[in-house]
Amino acid sequence: MTGYQRGELIVCSKPYAYALGTEYRGLRCDHCFKKCNDLKRCSQCSFVYFCDKNCQTRGWGLHKLECKYIMNAKQKPLASTRLISLVLLKVKKYGLDNPFEEVLGRKMSFGTLMSHSKNIIKDKKSYQLMLILMREISNYIGPANVPDPEEFAEAYGRMRVNGFSITDDNDSEVVGCGVYLGAAVFDHSCEPNAEVVFDGVNLYVRAKQDIPQRDINQVFVSYINQLQLTHSRQSALKELYYFRCQCIRCTTSLYDDKMLEVLIDGKEAEEQLKNIKEKLQNVKEQLKKLEKMVDQHASLSSIEEKCRKEIEIQDQILGKKNIYWIQTLVIAFNVCIKLKKWIDAISFGNLLTEPYRFYYGPYSRHLGIHLFKIGKIQLYYGSPTDAKDALKQAENIMKVTHGEQHFLYQDLVKLLAEIQK
Ligand SMILES: [Zn+2]
Ligand SMILES: [Zn+2]
Ligand SMILES: [Zn+2]
Repeated sequence: MTGYQRGELIVCSKPYAYALGTEYRGLRCDHCFKKCNDLKRCSQCSFVYFCDKNCQTRGWGLHKLECKYIMNAKQKPLASTRLISLVLLKVKKYGLDNPFEEVLGRKMSFGTLMSHSKNIIKDKKSYQLMLILMREISNYIGPANVPDPEEFAEAYGRMRVNGFSITDDNDSEVVGCGVYLGAAVFDHSCEPNAEVVFDGVNLYVRAKQDIPQRDINQVFVSYINQLQLTHSRQSALKELYYFRCQCIRCTTSLYDDKMLEVLIDGKEAEEQLKNIKEKLQNVKEQLKKLEKMVDQHASLSSIEEKCRKEIEIQDQILGKKNIYWIQTLVIAFNVCIKLKKWIDAISFGNLLTEPYRFYYGPYSRHLGIHLFKIGKIQLYYGSPTDAKDALKQAENIMKVTHGEQHFLYQDLVKLLAEIQK
């Protein structure tokens, strides 16, 4: 066995500490994050919820660290406050070296994680933010549990650098946040060869292509949203991780050119180019307005109407892998699903498939989930043949990205079996 084969599991990591998103409290289990209609409250703090005795028992190891503080808190803590407090309480109780996870011969504990604490202390703005957080945490778990600023910066930095948003692919939602020791060994690339997927709160890293050597230094995951221009990706990476990415996408202009591609025919190209620059500026401004409408929960029909108008304009001037085109389509696709305009959702969704394949690669979680979604809509409201085609493609991809044991992959296989009956 030399390298990793596409689809092979590289690491399965359980969270070191994690917290359910504040808005999901009472809707999902605080231990396993599954949705449940019959959740039971913790009998002591009455704040966190569990599916049943089983989840409560399994979750107690972590929850016991915070339960009494939650019980006594005047203002109940947000998920982010709970996470950093859990980390501090856990380090205080077990030290920096315990527990640990071994990944390919490397021993990972909270103490081995990168913190960039010096950068946090050096940067006025992040230092001020940190002091505010320290005060808040001190009010919650008491000053005796909060170390001095230097040590706090270590823990806070480790959490910031190694924290993951825990997503539920079924709903495409971020449901919580956590720190994972085993997953922290991997470096970043904007063109990663491994994919991070969650099943409940457990994190799985799988090879999305063949990787020639079984070597940590050859495995790359993406820390950020890949669907951004190079300068945006660079500044996201610099802000949180303090490094400059040197991957192929950051050092060549191929992807940026595609992301900014506009349609011009040969004749009078110069004149058109000038013209199109103005139009492009307008496209960007309108997209910003659209995003604002989504953020401010404008009425779905007004968002839909604006999307249609923009898509009609953009269709004439933007390349079909242009990033503004993609971003507008994503909004249109989601809003049509919410409005139950299934046929429109299918047509917007179909336009996203090829750009996703291009930017995320043929075996990516994004593409697999996208095709699964489209397939389901097709099945109930579109063409059964197209449904089957999309779901089969999704199955092929998710076998690699999610693995055969993942609940979502199993749902997909069941659905395919039903259709084939
Ligand atoms: Zn549960
Ligand atoms: Zn409790
Ligand atoms: Zn890069």
